[in-house]
Amino acid sequence: MEVTSTHPALLVVDVQVDFCPGGSLAVKNGSDVVPRLNRVIKAFERRSLPIFFTRDWHPADHISFRRRGGIWPPHCVQGTPGAEFHPGLRIPAAAVVISKGNSRNAEAYSGFRGTDLEERLKILGIDEIFLGGLTTDYCVRETALDARDAGFSVIFMEDCIRAVDARPRDGDRAIADMRKAGAKPVSSSEVVKLLASTQQ
Ligand SMILES: [Zn+2]
Repeated sequence: MEVTSTHPALLVVDVQVDFCPGGSLAVKNGSDVVPRLNRVIKAFERRSLPIFFTRDWHPADHISFRRRGGIWPPHCVQGTPGAEFHPGLRIPAAAVVISKGNSRNAEAYSGFRGTDLEERLKILGIDEIFLGGLTTDYCVRETALDARDAGFSVIFMEDCIRAVDARPRDGDRAIADMRKAGAKPVSSSEVVKLLASTQQ
């Protein structure tokens, strides 16, 4: 991997209790991403680079829930334990939390949908986004595609994402879609190494 940017940001997508084993919309092995993401988070912190966390933050009667005709069980309801970030996830004090999906009648898989994320990144002069989190086939995919549409370089950490796979191979298709849109796959260890090697 080469250094393509002087203004990278880390974007950690929806690593919340409900998406991890034991949660209401658990992703198989979802919490595996936590220790890997923590290493990347620390590497970004050491360089004082911006870190953003998105979270699903739904009202109790959100449109995506089955009782309202959506496809999901209730999950990440505002203020409930299931909406908390995974307890093992490192959240630096300087990190920015972006809440999405917080209006009753609008779904928002992407961290850019209905939020000020794009504006915040552009104010900071960010041109490259390192992406990881949950889930590959929904929120990570949609966030990556919106980031590309907004003109950012996108690098997704393949070992830091996990898929719902409601239909077999949804995760693989999502990865193909992201690559087709110009997002580049990388391993989290490469990112950590890269940040260490370009330490100023
Ligand atoms: Zn949701």
